[in-house]
Amino acid sequence: MAQILEYQHFIDGQWTPGESGERMEIFNPANRELVGTVPRATTGDVDRAMESARKSFASGVWSGKSVEERADILFNAAMLIAAGREHMGYLESLPSGGTIRRTSILDAASAAGSLALAGALAAQALPAVEHTICPPWLAPMHSYWRREPIGVCLGITPWNFPLILAAYKIGPALAMGNSIVVKPASITPFSTLELARILHDAGVPDGVFNVVTGPGSSIGNYMASHPEVDKIGFTGSTEVGKHIAHLAADGVKRVTLELGGKSPLIVLDDADVDVAVNMILFAFLFHSGQVCESGTRLLVPRKMQDEIVERMIAKIKTLTIGDQMQMTTDLGPIASADQLQTIERYVAIGKAEGAQLAYGGRRLTAGELEKGYFFEPTIFINCNNQMTQVREEIFGPVQCVIPYDDVEEALAIANDSPYGLGGGIASTDVARAQRLAGRMRTGSVWINTWHILRPDAPFGGYKESGYGRENCYHALMAYSEVKHICQDLDPNPDKLLFELLGLNQQKGGM
Ligand code: NAP
Ligand code: MG
Repeated sequence: MAQILEYQHFIDGQWTPGESGERMEIFNPANRELVGTVPRATTGDVDRAMESARKSFASGVWSGKSVEERADILFNAAMLIAAGREHMGYLESLPSGGTIRRTSILDAASAAGSLALAGALAAQALPAVEHTICPPWLAPMHSYWRREPIGVCLGITPWNFPLILAAYKIGPALAMGNSIVVKPASITPFSTLELARILHDAGVPDGVFNVVTGPGSSIGNYMASHPEVDKIGFTGSTEVGKHIAHLAADGVKRVTLELGGKSPLIVLDDADVDVAVNMILFAFLFHSGQVCESGTRLLVPRKMQDEIVERMIAKIKTLTIGDQMQMTTDLGPIASADQLQTIERYVAIGKAEGAQLAYGGRRLTAGELEKGYFFEPTIFINCNNQMTQVREEIFGPVQCVIPYDDVEEALAIANDSPYGLGGGIASTDVARAQRLAGRMRTGSVWINTWHILRPDAPFGGYKESGYGRENCYHALMAYSEVKHICQDLDPNPDKLLFELLGLNQQKGGM
């Protein structure tokens, strides 16, 4: 067995043991073996991290650098991630169950791209200062406004894509001059801790980037309501996201929320069936379905349901399910016993509510799979949009097929959801697909593709899938304040204005 990974908190530029000495154990979901431990934070550990972030912010050691200097350091960090992508992939895959084929290529490149692009956009695309010379309105004035960091940011991330989702917060926060404390999900902390090493080596000053590990259930509330926190970037469940928004409201903290989803995929009757089938499988099986924007409500023309489902099943049978650490594996394990139980519970509900099981529906236990949390790709057919397993997020490899008779009906079903994260259309008619895309109430719409989260394009949700956007200049704005500075250019300033209060009149008296 590989060596057990032992990490500490990263606070004020130092690997810092937790004050209680208590550790959390991290397991490989493919075989339930212990793979590492990290500190279980106390509120005292959180205070230390917040104080170091505040101190570094106030000192100007980072917030006072030019945006170009910060961009250079983020670029260095991106290069270090790229150079160490195999190690980073290992650290990401081991506890999360994501296949190493994906994490060592896509996840590493995506995280590196997010850091590099946040710096580049901040330096080149987002005006740091905007000016206007006001025409003599009350008086000739020079108005300008500039982007400034917010202060101390808190990033809280889930277990499905810990590296990428941390980078989505770290990139814009650091590019705009903030300091940040990140709390990764308890079961997948390694890649975020490794990022601390990389950012430090890249030149991020001590205290500007901190990582604290510990259960959301015991330190999450304390972190989210911490007086030193000015901005929270949260990715996770809608339930915890709502709770964080309540906590943040008391301190009027800025918040970006990326939450759950139940994303609809509409196959139009003009679709190329081969393309559609690949798109459908990619949409709901990527990372064994543990993706917030997975396409898990499949709307197909009624007369095409049988053919599409038949071809889906044929392709599923060719996929390799197993150890995520093998380059040949297509689908890895479910990340935890809890998540496996959630999937099993929803499959039972689907059956009880009368959805027809066309494929799968079982935990996989043959041979080595018995040691881990593996679940068979699962397809329910002849579903309707009122069924519990169709409305609620499952977060597993489960597809619910809803047959429709006309496109208006399909669109109405697609939009009938509390969520609005992703959506998609399979079609060969570009104009028809784009018209329909414009009418979907979701933050992303993919046409003949899925899961395209680009560092240069905004990502986020409508409705209960969250608010604010990550990536692109939208994220830079979400991690900065705008300050308007206005100077009266008249040699005798604001005669007119001051007169409104009678200040310039020669009054009698004294
Ligand atoms: P989760 O339970 O909401 O946890 C997310 C993070 O919040 C974890 O770090 C967790 O810590 C922490 N947390 C838990 N309770 C907290 C509290 N009271 N205060 C502050 N932090 C708290 O979500 P998850 O189970 O990790 O991930 C699955 C969910 O995330 C799904 O619903 C999925 O849709 C959503 N997700 C959304 C996106 C997106 O971009 N929209 C991306 C990925 C996942 P612990 O790990 O210690 O519990
Ligand atoms: Mg959770």
